[in-house]
Amino acid sequence: MTRLDDLPDFLNALAADVMSRGEWGKVADYIPELARVDPAQFAISVALADGRLISAGQSRTRFSIQSISKVYALACVLSRFGDSLWNRVGREPSGDRFDSILLLEQEHGRPRNPFINAGALVTTDVLLAGRAPKEALSEILQFIRDGAGDDDIHIDASVAASEKATGFRNVALANYLRSFDNLRETPDRVLGTYFHQCAIEMTTEQLALSGRCLAGLPDAPMLLSEVRRRRIAALMMTCGHYDGSGDFAFRTGLPGKSGVGGGILLVVPGRASVGIWSPGLNAWGNSMVGTEAAERLARFTGWSVFG
Ligand code: GLN
Repeated sequence: MTRLDDLPDFLNALAADVMSRGEWGKVADYIPELARVDPAQFAISVALADGRLISAGQSRTRFSIQSISKVYALACVLSRFGDSLWNRVGREPSGDRFDSILLLEQEHGRPRNPFINAGALVTTDVLLAGRAPKEALSEILQFIRDGAGDDDIHIDASVAASEKATGFRNVALANYLRSFDNLRETPDRVLGTYFHQCAIEMTTEQLALSGRCLAGLPDAPMLLSEVRRRRIAALMMTCGHYDGSGDFAFRTGLPGKSGVGGGILLVVPGRASVGIWSPGLNAWGNSMVGTEAAERLARFTGWSVFG
């Protein structure tokens, strides 16, 4: 019996353990709709290279993917415009919070990477490229739906509206970027599109399936070139958990991307794509229990990009 045959039991035991322990972290409260989510929830889904999808916990409950959407927006921009994005956004970890404005002044409006908010706003600006926000949003949604092989993936308009009402930091970032001439569209248009992409909802099953193309699984639809897939995974590893990226890499040895909705997309190149969700966050704004689950899964399976 291979270790993976024990995976269903392992995941069920993991879910039972975190539920019984009841230590959840704090839900994001700066977006009122997210503040209402019950932190005592957990789900994990693993899409394996052999086509199996194995889940435990509330794997059919939809949650707000928030910053995980930045990975898909980046994939769309790279496919559509190639490497020109890197003239406007860097590829270095920032070591600062996801919504920090600090480095932006020192570095003349060029965000450190596409996964901090400032970099994601520039990425969304590039994706808009004179089009209606609806078109850019459909492109991101279509990429996700094609990746998951599931059209039942949508935007929760109430979450987008909730963030629009209180997202003052993002408004500041967008205006600041515009002052450096690093937004072509109006801040309003970019922010509206960005808040909607962050408000995409998925279950962990859908997240795991949509991530198969990023993990390069054999049954994944061909949505990305090999080179792009590797580069996006490298950025997830170095920047995907903001100022907690080093800790996440140390604990899991795997590329991952978090969102303040409590989701984590974990990719195990050639082997698996994993969706994890638990809404309570740690001090870096990453899922507390989700990070722990990723670490325990990596230890159980022996998965690591470091061999
Ligand atoms: N929409 C959120 C924000 O911009 C996304 C942040 C996150 O998930 N880390 O603040």
